[in-house]
Amino acid sequence: MSVETRPQPSGTDAQSTELIRLENVTKRFGANTVLDRLNFSVDTGRHVTLIGPSGSGKTTILRLLMTLTRPDEGTITVDGEQLFPAPEKQIRQVRKKIGMVFQQFNLFPNMSVLRNITEAPVQVLGMSRDEAEERARELLELVGLTDKCDAKPTRLSGGQQQRVAIARALAMRPQVLLLDEVTSALDPELVAGVLDVLRDIARSTDITMLCVTHEMGFARDISDRVLMFDGGRVIESGSPEKIFTEPEQDRTREFLSAVL
Ligand code: ADP
Repeated sequence: MSVETRPQPSGTDAQSTELIRLENVTKRFGANTVLDRLNFSVDTGRHVTLIGPSGSGKTTILRLLMTLTRPDEGTITVDGEQLFPAPEKQIRQVRKKIGMVFQQFNLFPNMSVLRNITEAPVQVLGMSRDEAEERARELLELVGLTDKCDAKPTRLSGGQQQRVAIARALAMRPQVLLLDEVTSALDPELVAGVLDVLRDIARSTDITMLCVTHEMGFARDISDRVLMFDGGRVIESGSPEKIFTEPEQDRTREFLSAVL
């Protein structure tokens, strides 16, 4: 099934394919420098995975892109527009290009599944309720939950709730989907269903994905590029084949042998 996302930039120069760019981004929490002059970019339509030990700054990057936290230094650009530093109005505009799925699903417990998905498109994008519902039904088909439109989230399994959260993020037609360890809070038997849905989305849509995951098999399947983090810096990057089969850095080898 093909689900449209927003029109992608159609310029002809090499720059126009770059959707996200972080330049010299530093983030500190007190005396703790969590990201240290970080540079990387993600091209439109690509699926990039961030791997590395706990505490290496991966989630902080996603939170910076979601504007849940702000950098101390550096610039972040999304689709050619600056997200940081920028006036608040511009930050709110640029931020609409980005959707995120968290470990915890954070669905509204008192609203039906359909309403959970339609609320933001109606309230934030000003979409008509009919259009939002039509789109929500398409997305529920994509995540395999067409029969759960009217259910309350509390009646669903964790895996089903996470699939609703994925549909809810896509309903805002983001250009990039950030996935932060989306299966970490799930019972093991529910993990595969959620990962299958994400594989399907990676294959069948043109959305750009930036994932933090401990699921190395999944990372290998969906990624065009894998970035290995350690101590707030990218210490190695490359194709999944290179990173998972012949990493250059000892630190990457150590990390992979501990998690694989
Ligand atoms: P990862 O996702 O790689 O596990 P995080 O980005 O979550 O790493 O965290 C990187 C570091 O930043 C950790 O040392 C963590 O304790 C610290 N950190 C993250 N968020 C906060 C916060 N809100 N306040 C203080 N320290 C934080």
